[in-house]
Amino acid sequence: MSRPSLKESCTKIVATVGPACASVEKLAALIEAGADVFRINTAHGSRSEHELTLANIRAASKQCGFDAGVLLDLAGPKIRLGQLVEDPLVCEVGAKLTFIRGEYSEDVHELTSSYARLIDELSPGDRVMLADGLVALKVEKVTANSAECRVSAGGTVRSRQGINLPGVKLSVSAMRPKDVDNAIWAAQNSIDFISLSFVRSPEDVQALKNLLVSYECNAMVIAKIEKPEALDQLEAIVEASDGVMVARGDLGVEIDVAETPMAQKRIIRVCKEKMKPVIVATQMLESMHTSSRPTRAEVSDVANAILDGTDACMLSGETAIGEHPVKSVEMMNRIMICTEREMLSDNISERIPNTRVHPITTAVTIAATNIAEAIQAKLIVIGTHSGGTAWVKSKSRSRIPTLGASDSHDTLRRMNLLWGIKPIESSHLEHTPEFIDEICGWGRKNANLKSGDQIVFVTGSGVVKKAHNVVIVHTVE
Ligand code: PGA
Ligand code: MN
Repeated sequence: MSRPSLKESCTKIVATVGPACASVEKLAALIEAGADVFRINTAHGSRSEHELTLANIRAASKQCGFDAGVLLDLAGPKIRLGQLVEDPLVCEVGAKLTFIRGEYSEDVHELTSSYARLIDELSPGDRVMLADGLVALKVEKVTANSAECRVSAGGTVRSRQGINLPGVKLSVSAMRPKDVDNAIWAAQNSIDFISLSFVRSPEDVQALKNLLVSYECNAMVIAKIEKPEALDQLEAIVEASDGVMVARGDLGVEIDVAETPMAQKRIIRVCKEKMKPVIVATQMLESMHTSSRPTRAEVSDVANAILDGTDACMLSGETAIGEHPVKSVEMMNRIMICTEREMLSDNISERIPNTRVHPITTAVTIAATNIAEAIQAKLIVIGTHSGGTAWVKSKSRSRIPTLGASDSHDTLRRMNLLWGIKPIESSHLEHTPEFIDEICGWGRKNANLKSGDQIVFVTGSGVVKKAHNVVIVHTVE
């Protein structure tokens, strides 16, 4: 098995790993179908399971000849229900439910939570949402050891489901001890992306970054935007992060679900301005948990996220626990191909200058992309150690196939999140005849490159430190 060297779609696919796809065989099938990055969700499973998953991802990557990226998702300050006395529990409108201290409850109507200070931080009038927002409680009375609530929207809840507290400012720290432990494990295992749930401020992101620095880890930190506080400080959070996830599952409970489409567009816009990759997540092909075909609305949702400008779309339960993991990836890939075909490339010269890479690099990469579009080049090749230059091209949304050539395996795996960038290993990244020959050889074999085709190379001469200042248009002989 081997995945086509130039995957047809530019938008990347993040697939969550779970029991439905954790074997090497299934993971390889997902790579073949178009998955670029695998998410390991630490909200579920044990360390030994995560170790096995990581080993299987690496084995599947090897088998397919495609080094998939790995994203470790930290649960962050997610609050969960404790064990329910009656599980599942049907909550009827008007019923009284009381949060109590401790981990054990003996009364059907008394609830516990994973957050010890919950009762101290709730006030009468606060809303408590359970079962993904389906069940709503209103706090009526808080005493020293309990918070009495009334059910205002009914439904069924289960043990250890998440609790959302829209608008309640919690003092819980950004990372729980388990997150710190998982982040260290990620640092020691060359994980490419680490996402942090329920980010509220740029300091939350910085705390994780500081921890990683102390372990000499340069994984990209992805801030999950799923709290109203995060939207309030969005610009600063995006600035502090290496990438962002539009975490619509919790966001749609924490803010009015009707506001989420415009929030998604705003988050993507800010990421574009600041040149950060962005992932749109949750319920993208939700019905494919059980159905082999998605709804029309889901197909539109994936297409619209691409039109909004997302770099990647994520599959959650669809691949982790669904009945059709491979079909879900295939379907997402097909929607991407069809949508991108009709998409217009941006006017990149109008791009707001950014500070992520050297200004000469930004200008040269934009110029190179314009040249490639003008002459309808077959390929753009960017020589990059850190991947930074590839980000500039990625945000242009030019559909000319682009190789991000790097000598670093870390960089190669990280480019799996960048829209339209195909990572390729190479040791000569400057404008040498060897580099050009190597790429032409690869292109003839993998990209149908023929004599007379043109390739645009973006490299550095070494004269300007840390900047790309060379554009070469090469005609294949
Ligand atoms: P989760 O994050 O799946 O870890 O909750 C994504 C989301 O909330 O949308
Ligand atoms: Mn979430």
